[in-house]
Amino acid sequence: MSSIFLPVRIEFGIDSSTRVGSEFSSLKCKKVMVVSDKGVIDSGLLEGITKSIAENNIEIALYDGVLPDPNIECVENAKNFYISEKCDGILAVGGGSSIDTAKAAGMLVTNQEPITNMAGVGNVKNQLPPLITIPTTCGTGSEVTNVTVVTDENHFKMPIVSSYLIPKVAILDPSLLLSLPPKLVASTGMDALTHAIEALTNNIQNWYADSCALEAIRLIGKSLRPATANGNITDLSQMLYASTLAGVAFTISRLGLVHAMSHPISGLAGVPHGVANAVLLPYVMSFNSIGNPQGYAMVADALGVQKQENEIAAARAGVEEVIKLNHQLGIPKSFKELGVNEELIPQMIEDTFKSGNVAINPRRVTKNDVEQIYKKSFSGE
Ligand code: NAD
Repeated sequence: MSSIFLPVRIEFGIDSSTRVGSEFSSLKCKKVMVVSDKGVIDSGLLEGITKSIAENNIEIALYDGVLPDPNIECVENAKNFYISEKCDGILAVGGGSSIDTAKAAGMLVTNQEPITNMAGVGNVKNQLPPLITIPTTCGTGSEVTNVTVVTDENHFKMPIVSSYLIPKVAILDPSLLLSLPPKLVASTGMDALTHAIEALTNNIQNWYADSCALEAIRLIGKSLRPATANGNITDLSQMLYASTLAGVAFTISRLGLVHAMSHPISGLAGVPHGVANAVLLPYVMSFNSIGNPQGYAMVADALGVQKQENEIAAARAGVEEVIKLNHQLGIPKSFKELGVNEELIPQMIEDTFKSGNVAINPRRVTKNDVEQIYKKSFSGE
């Protein structure tokens, strides 16, 4: 059985973001809340976008209070702003933090209950106001996914999953990534690679998601290094396309142990999502590979690794390739290098097992396994 439900229109092209005004006009919106953060705004990325909205005689209310790994207060503030400004549509411009804030705020507008009641899968009862997303990083895929991640008061990153969270339109404009610093191209690109690898290799098989994931891995293998090194528009375009494909893949097939373990690293120690995934990815791939050697051999092949004598050898070569990729991109090998306190590990283990992604990981996982993987990723050995 395979099921695919993705009610989002995807517009892709250089300068496509300057047509967003006509999209909101078609949706009959009169006042749009634009959700973004200071880094995106200071990079001048809103200029063509707000001009296009104004040209369609639609008012704008700018919510610029997005924080990295948005917490409950941040999304509540955005909801209150939407209501006080009497908006009737939402535009997210930015990385996953801006897009997730916009999704969660929209969800709170139409679902009057505490956000914690909606955590988990299928607990959102009502459709959101019209939501359009314009990603400016090449990582999260949130522009098309059915997820928003909000950090609660215990620093737990709480995924909220519902098809109502899938935006109406995602506009992919690669020119908005030209200002993305190399470090963020690298780390968000590794986030996209992690999404694709986990969606492909976990226990959920879906022909459509697997095709998207494989193509995303192939594109990232080809374009992430030059996109980071040169920031040229061709490679950035391919990275943006790949991160959306990976978002499609994991909306259908979900994720695995890397995400279950990286959310506690971000929530408790503040390591950016893409960096946490990138550091953990080779350790988890190495642990997982015997659970799905065929899947990990496909990963290696899509990354362009030379053919090996069997699947186990190919899977191992795939891990080596990801280690090399991280090194070339300047991603640290360990959380120790990032100054993360090892005393957090027991709490991180607890939080890992709250994730639904553990149950679909390609290899069964015990608390001891997770502890060993955390210890290796802390020491870098
Ligand atoms: P981010 O949104 O936190 O942005 C990181 C930094 O990049 C910010 O300082 C921002 O100002 C800056 N920035 C973004 N685009 C820029 C550009 N073009 N030029 C210059 N600066 C720019 O980073 P992210 O990695 O995209 O998002 C991480 C968040 O996404 C986490 O909270 C994570 O949990 C969430 N996430 C959500 C999903 C989902 O499907 N909902 C999936 C994965 C991750």
